[in-house]
Amino acid sequence: MKYVVIGSGVAGIAAVEAIRSLDQTNSITMIGDDPHGFYSRPGLAYYLTGELHDKALFPRTADDYRQMNFQFIKGRVLNIQRELQTLELNNKTEIPYDKLLIAVGAQATPLNVPGANLEGVLKLDHLDDAKHILKFARRGKTAVVVGGGITALELVEGFVARDMQVHYLLRGDRYWSNVLDEQESKIVEHRLQEEGVTLHYQAEITEVTGKSGKVNGIRLVNGKTLPCNLLAYAIGIQARIDLAKRSDLLVERGILVNEYLQTNDPDIYAAGDVAQVYDPMTGHSVMDSLWAPARQQGYMAGLNMAGQKTAYIKSPPFNVTRLAGLTTTIIGTVGRGKDADMVGIARGDSETWRQLPDALTAQAGFEVNRLRLLVGEKTLLGAIVMGDQKLSFPLEKIISGNMDISLIRDRLLAPNAKTADIIAKFWSELVTAN
Ligand SMILES: Cc1cc2nc3c(=O)[nH]c(=O)nc-3n(C[C@H](O)[C@H](O)[C@H](O)COP(=O)(O)OP(=O)(O)OC[C@H]3O[C@@H](n4cnc5c(N)ncnc54)[C@H](O)[C@@H]3O)c2cc1C
Repeated sequence: MKYVVIGSGVAGIAAVEAIRSLDQTNSITMIGDDPHGFYSRPGLAYYLTGELHDKALFPRTADDYRQMNFQFIKGRVLNIQRELQTLELNNKTEIPYDKLLIAVGAQATPLNVPGANLEGVLKLDHLDDAKHILKFARRGKTAVVVGGGITALELVEGFVARDMQVHYLLRGDRYWSNVLDEQESKIVEHRLQEEGVTLHYQAEITEVTGKSGKVNGIRLVNGKTLPCNLLAYAIGIQARIDLAKRSDLLVERGILVNEYLQTNDPDIYAAGDVAQVYDPMTGHSVMDSLWAPARQQGYMAGLNMAGQKTAYIKSPPFNVTRLAGLTTTIIGTVGRGKDADMVGIARGDSETWRQLPDALTAQAGFEVNRLRLLVGEKTLLGAIVMGDQKLSFPLEKIISGNMDISLIRDRLLAPNAKTADIIAKFWSELVTAN
């Protein structure tokens, strides 16, 4: 038996761990095109702000890899020849497989305007992109950021930390409008302004201008121009589905897989940002770009590849992140609709968050401590916790455990309800009872 994994991200590494937990003898080969191998992509934000050294991004030691006992080939897979069960690599070698995992992730949606290929137009996918960004980020210079979701803000924060003049362009009226509500967007925008960021609303870029091949400004739809030294974009991501498409695997926005993470070819699996996975919460196959689900999917795919049939049940998406310095946890379904700043989803994002079913909203708090709950018939469907994180853990358990909240539902929905106190008491009674 020959196991092969394409991609050295968290899904690929987790798959190797799972295979090795069941099979200590057969060979595992991983093929990856990132020269840095496996590292924390969410950690790139903290590397940009200077809070983390690049060495801190690598969660595994050389010893860990020795114990996992797999062969790493640095290279890019160009084709999957399904009838021969071989992979064609960019260095012309062919690698045979019996069980294959595609864990090639997603990439930034390109900015499609004239001038987008000028030096100084930047995106954030890989560690090398982050290093490249830092080469351009100079104190006192001007940066423009376009896009939405978490990565756009991470870019803004990175430039603020490097003492740059930062302009953040929003195509719509507010930040991350299909996940956050108006007040939450305002909290984030207000904090950005306090950090000295200039926000531009309904600002759509039509052209990047340059001199001697380097960015020197941008032009907006309304005709205005803005001089700048760099432009960073995060307008969404696209799953890397080309490889699967070329070999006739079923794809939509991602590679379609069943509950065993198996594609329409029973010997080929897909996991992580590239996979489109059935979500029991919405009844659809959805895309996430979240570290924890990518890891879980990779692990489950590995178990299935090694013969232990295990169904992957997607839990409500959960992300703890920082929005303009404010710790924010997003759980389950919380928003609705489209966001003008993004095509599809962004990094650290989930389609499930905006599949809002019929639900009533209970909210509490002001400024930095804000809690919003999406209250269903008998259960909580989602929550956003901004600032104080005491309730994040209980809420994650209540939502993912589908716990019956009938006893407190009316109180949660009462005008001026002390939502946080009600949840805290409900949880402490549950813990005491169990
Ligand atoms: C800046 C940033 C911030 C993020 N913030 C958060 C956050 O706050 N919270 C959160 O939960 N998640 C966050 N994420 C998302 C999270 O990191 C991803 O969901 C996760 O890394 C996906 O893992 P993966 O293994 O599926 O893919 P990836 O980590 O993308 O790994 C795929 C690998 O495959 C390689 N590859 C692609 N094509 C080929 C090929 N043909 N041949 C060989 N190799 C190939 C790629 O180069 C890459 O190394 C963030 C991501 C980024 C980039």
